[in-house]
Amino acid sequence: PQVAELIAAGEVVERPASIVKELLENAVDAGAQKITIEIKNGGISYIRVTDDGGGIEKDDLPAAFVRHATSKVRTAADLEQIGSFGFRGEALASIAAVCKVEVLSRTPESISGGRYVIHGSQEVDFSDAGCPVGTTIVVRDVFFNTPARMKFLKKDSTEAGTIANIVDKIALANPQISFRFIRDGQVKLNTPGNGDLLSVIYAVYGKEFAADMIPVNYTHEFVTVSGFICRPTASRSTRSMQNFFINSRYVRSRTCMAALEEAYKSSIMTGKFPACVLNVQIPFNTVDVNVHPAKIEVRFSNERPVFDAVYRGCKEALGTAGE
Ligand code: ADP
Ligand code: MG
Repeated sequence: PQVAELIAAGEVVERPASIVKELLENAVDAGAQKITIEIKNGGISYIRVTDDGGGIEKDDLPAAFVRHATSKVRTAADLEQIGSFGFRGEALASIAAVCKVEVLSRTPESISGGRYVIHGSQEVDFSDAGCPVGTTIVVRDVFFNTPARMKFLKKDSTEAGTIANIVDKIALANPQISFRFIRDGQVKLNTPGNGDLLSVIYAVYGKEFAADMIPVNYTHEFVTVSGFICRPTASRSTRSMQNFFINSRYVRSRTCMAALEEAYKSSIMTGKFPACVLNVQIPFNTVDVNVHPAKIEVRFSNERPVFDAVYRGCKEALGTAGE
């Protein structure tokens, strides 16, 4: 691949977990109801994501790997209305630049599907293939052609742990989708996909922890906050268990974190930090998701209403819980 291609790829693909994140978001965008993720060796040698979503037309497969060819953003106005996760059309191109990728996909309208294989931006195969409706993407040998980047990969177990975290967060953000995560042959997560957030919390953090959660449902101005926060008496709660979603997209938000922790100020805490799974629903035009290549950071046009909604929603929930 071209040097420019590799540099651009580096912004999207930092490690195997970033690949998993992009593939999962594509599967969610495709309307999947069931998504299976399998990894081997921390995802470095093997990542497979299978979904039962709308699939890709065979003839559209090559373009899906061309940077920006498929961008869902056409005008500046579109940028203000981003509802889907993907919007830059660069994830698959970036992944294919630094890995070996194989795709099998079929749409509900076609009788057969397509297979596309691309190694380091070079097409290796493009053919008809029998496969179920939906998409399977297999990514092998991450950074096989960029040894300098490969050196920065951590131990398999560390990479696998980072992938598990991403899968957990995307599962928590999408309780209506069933996620199954297999790591080196072992099923690590299985969520029912029935829309019940508490059962996803149960699957991710365990039964005891789920029993320590209290519901939040609060609307303030144009911001709605919903989900669960832990009782102040929950002992196993850490900052890594603070999950914030903006319009169902996982984000790191100082504003939300500060509001959450402020709400617990007058409570006597057992754990060090309050855990939460909170979705903040706000109009698309008040949040800018185009800040970070991996789209984890967001910018609000006005932080105050977001802070207030999270703070008040948590306060109210803590009050109702009698603490
Ligand atoms: P983006 O998501 O930003 O559009 P990607 O590079 O992630 O860009 O994906 C390129 C295109 O390939 C998507 O716009 C979509 O049309 C198609 N695509 C990728 N993954 C899937 C999938 N799992 N199911 C259906 N279509 C997919
Ligand atoms: Mg995408």
